[in-house]
Amino acid sequence: MNSFYLESLGCAKNLVDSERYASILHRAGLEAAEYPEEADLVLVNTCSFLVDSLRELDLVLSDLAQLKREERIEQLVVTGCVMNRGQKEFRELYPEVDAWIGLKDFAALEAWLGLAQQANHERVGIQGGYHRYLRISDGCANNCSYCTIPSIRGPLRSIDMDVLVREAEALARDEDYPPCELVVIAQDTANYGLDIYGRKALPELLERLHAIPQYKWIRVLYIHPDHFDLEWLELWKTLPKLLPYFEIPIQHSEDHLLTAMNRQKGRLELEKMFNAILSEIPGSVLRTTLISGFPGETKEDALALQDFVKRVPFLHLGVFNYSAEEGTPAAEMIGQVSAKTSTRRRDRLLEQQEERTARRLESYVGKTVDVLIEDLADDEEDGGYQGRAWFQAPEIDGLTYVQGQDLEAGKIYRVQIDDVIGVDLFGRVVAE
Ligand code: SF4
Repeated sequence: MNSFYLESLGCAKNLVDSERYASILHRAGLEAAEYPEEADLVLVNTCSFLVDSLRELDLVLSDLAQLKREERIEQLVVTGCVMNRGQKEFRELYPEVDAWIGLKDFAALEAWLGLAQQANHERVGIQGGYHRYLRISDGCANNCSYCTIPSIRGPLRSIDMDVLVREAEALARDEDYPPCELVVIAQDTANYGLDIYGRKALPELLERLHAIPQYKWIRVLYIHPDHFDLEWLELWKTLPKLLPYFEIPIQHSEDHLLTAMNRQKGRLELEKMFNAILSEIPGSVLRTTLISGFPGETKEDALALQDFVKRVPFLHLGVFNYSAEEGTPAAEMIGQVSAKTSTRRRDRLLEQQEERTARRLESYVGKTVDVLIEDLADDEEDGGYQGRAWFQAPEIDGLTYVQGQDLEAGKIYRVQIDDVIGVDLFGRVVAE
């Protein structure tokens, strides 16, 4: 075997594990292939927290099993979240799989490859781009009533701060794609440290990460509203590299539904929190995520949620249909909402937000903003380069296309915004 292909499904937190699997496969002397059919070994790092994720996995594995049956690949390895939710069913469906490796069981992959085992596993970037994710904890202790993640990834386990700082420093030494942006992630970043330090330690960690010179931007995602302290805003005032980008998933605005979801902060507290952020940090941007069609959601609740989203100026919004996941308390709740109604309500929220996001992005036209250039633009017409403005998170918020001469990827430039199309911005460099 000379080459491998790594299929990293699911979220950025899973991508962190995939980068460790990649470093082990490289240590086994394998080169990364661009496509599965060009590889000898294919490793699939799976996601299984929703029925839809399992459906996606089924499609991926059926294609790969076909390649295996046609002997176009030699080995097929499966790992990740399916090992803790769905393994039995997928083992029966896919006898073509050569190895089923436990979630994050790096030692098992090393043993299967005949490698000596290592205590720590470095990460190899597999996606390109000048941003890297730092997962500061795994698992979750919040037990939202609709969520399977605690049953898949276990309770909250924060990673020691010194270990995280060393990991961030190691990522910064990447020669192929020296990262400019560090994206701090977890299931709940606001609860970081509670289990190992007996207190929430996100502010301390951010101060230490901020001191790493290579990173010009630090972005925090997955901030649980119940655990975000408004005093922390002082940090955003004093640490210039900490982006005033607040991704705070609230899931809903109505008190009785938030209670049924096992979430604490109610409508008034949520609105107060968002208003405090906007008044304390003028120019900051908000992103949130909502669930449409949660059991017990009435037409009035859906309208009230639309009203809430109108009142709080989110720049970015994600809305997902509620999915009744086996084994969750919410799946047993009365008042299940039909998929048709859930979809209708979701689409209404997204339509309403589309217009609001467009108007907010329009407000940047004529202004100069910081943009991280990450690549040449796919289409020359879009301008020579593509990147992201500071208020555009990787993979979820649209891109900025930039006209300029000899720009360097991985660098931040001052860009005058000339136009907006959908969630993408267009502009030209005015200064480095
Ligand atoms: S905070 Fe997120 S990961 Fe944790 S239980 Fe709730 S939805 Fe799931």
